[in-house]
Amino acid sequence: MKIIIIGGGFAGLRAYYRLKKSKEKLNITVIDKRKQLLEKPALPEVAFAGKSVKSVLIDLEPIITHKGGKYINAEVIKINPKLNHLHLDNGDKIEYDYLIIASGVIKDYYSIEGFKEFGYSMCDDIQSLKLWNKVKEFKKGNVVIGTAKSKFGTRVKAPKLIAPCEGPVGEAMFMLDYDFKKRKIDKETSINVFTPGEIFFEDVGNHVREKVGKIMTDKNITLHKNKVVTKITKEEIHFSDSTSLPCDLAIIIPPYKPLPLFNNCNLGDEAGFIPTDKTMKHLDFDSIYAIGDINALAQPKLGHIAVHQADIAVSAILKEITGKGTIINYEPSIFCIMNMGGLDATLIYSDKLYNGKNDLAFHNPISRMMKWSFDSYYYFTKGHMFPDFAVEGMERFLKLFKEDEDKYIPFNEKRDNL
Ligand SMILES: Cc1cc2nc3c(=O)[nH]c(=O)nc-3n(C[C@H](O)[C@H](O)[C@H](O)COP(=O)(O)OP(=O)(O)OC[C@H]3O[C@@H](n4cnc5c(N)ncnc54)[C@H](O)[C@@H]3O)c2cc1C
Repeated sequence: MKIIIIGGGFAGLRAYYRLKKSKEKLNITVIDKRKQLLEKPALPEVAFAGKSVKSVLIDLEPIITHKGGKYINAEVIKINPKLNHLHLDNGDKIEYDYLIIASGVIKDYYSIEGFKEFGYSMCDDIQSLKLWNKVKEFKKGNVVIGTAKSKFGTRVKAPKLIAPCEGPVGEAMFMLDYDFKKRKIDKETSINVFTPGEIFFEDVGNHVREKVGKIMTDKNITLHKNKVVTKITKEEIHFSDSTSLPCDLAIIIPPYKPLPLFNNCNLGDEAGFIPTDKTMKHLDFDSIYAIGDINALAQPKLGHIAVHQADIAVSAILKEITGKGTIINYEPSIFCIMNMGGLDATLIYSDKLYNGKNDLAFHNPISRMMKWSFDSYYYFTKGHMFPDFAVEGMERFLKLFKEDEDKYIPFNEKRDNL
C-alpha cells in the first residue's frame, strides 16, 4: 500500500510517525519542498528574544529515512485525483493509493500594500530573523501589531472565524512589552493591537478573553477592533474604514492563502481550502485526506488541531486498510501556551468555540515551564509530541488547578515587586 504525504510540517510529520507505529507494511513517502521542518510555535522567541533560527529547524531527510520511509525534497505542482497520481517540479510523476495533504498554507505577506518595504512578521524563519534585527535596534516609537483578514470557504461546517489564529499576536504584544520594560524604553514606546473582527481572540470564550484583556489593560496595550489592514507606509498603518494609526513598526500576521494548485485540481472549496468529512477524508475523493492548516474544518489554524487531525486521518486509513481499530472522533479544542517574555506565559485551554464547557487561562510560571518543555521535547525528539500518557497527565493537571487558576501571580510581576 503506497501512501504519499505532502508536507513534513506539524501535521504531516505526526501522520508519518503514527503510520510508522502501526504493524502494517506500508510504503510511505513524505514530499516537502523544504529540507527542514520549521517549528513555528518557537518563532516568536526568534523574533522577540533572539533565539537562534537553527534551533527551530529540524532536518527532514534523516528522520524520515531513519524510520524506513522515503523523503523527496521537491514541490508538488499538480495532483490528478481521478488517476491517483501527482506531479513534482522536478518532472517526476508519483502514484499513490492514499494521499495525505498536509501542505499548510501560504502566508500572503505581499498582498498587503507596503508590506515589502515597511512590514514585519514572525510567521517563518526569514521574517522572524528580519523582525529580531529590527526589534533589537528599536528604541522609541509606535508599534502596531495585528492580523490581516483571511477568506474561508463554506463547504464544511466549521466555526466562522475572521482571523486564522490570533495567538501569535498575543505573544508579540506581551513579549515586546517585556523587552521594552527590560531595556527601560517603555516610556518612549507604545503598543497598539488591532483585530479584523468585532472580537479579539474570537476562538476562545469570554473568561479567557477577559483575563487576557485585563493583562493588556494593566500593561497599557491598546486594542482596536474591526480594523482590516490595507496599507503600511513608513509612518502609518491604514485600515479599510479609512482610519490609520501612527506606526514605526508594523508586525502583521498576513492573510492565510491555500496553495493555488488545489483549486486547479478541483480539490479546494471556493476559498481553496480542502473540504473533508470528520475523518479527514476529502468530500469528493476517497483516497485523499487533508490535515492541518489546509483543511477547511481546521478552525482556528492551530498546531494542536493539526496534530489531532493527523491522528484521526491515520486511524481512518488504517481502519480502511486493515478493517480493524476505531476511527478517532473529531473533538477539537484550543490548547496553546502564549509566551509573554521572561518567565511569564499563559496556558489557554478552551473548547467554547465547539460548544464545550472549558475556558481556562493559567497565567503563571508553570505555563512558561510547560512551553519550554514542549518546544524542547519537540526539537530534541525530532518532531515528536509528548507521549499520550503525558498529555493525559497534563489534562488531569489542568482539571486539578481549574478552581485555582487565579491564585498565581506571574513570575515577572513577583520579581518586579521584590
Ligand atoms: C508564529 C506562529 C506561532 C504559532 N504558535 C503556535 C502554538 O503556540 N501552538 C499551536 O498549536 N500552533 C501554533 N501555531 C500554528 C501552527 O504552527 C500551525 O497550525 C501548524 O504549523 C500547521 O501545521 P501544518 O502541518 O498544517 O502546516 P506546516 O507546519 O506549515 O507544514 C506544511 C509543510 O508543507 C510543505 N509544503 C507546502 N506546500 C508544498 C508543496 N506544494 N509541495 C511540497 N511541500 C509543500 C511546507 O514546506 C511545510 O513544511 C503558530 C503559527 C505561527 C505562524
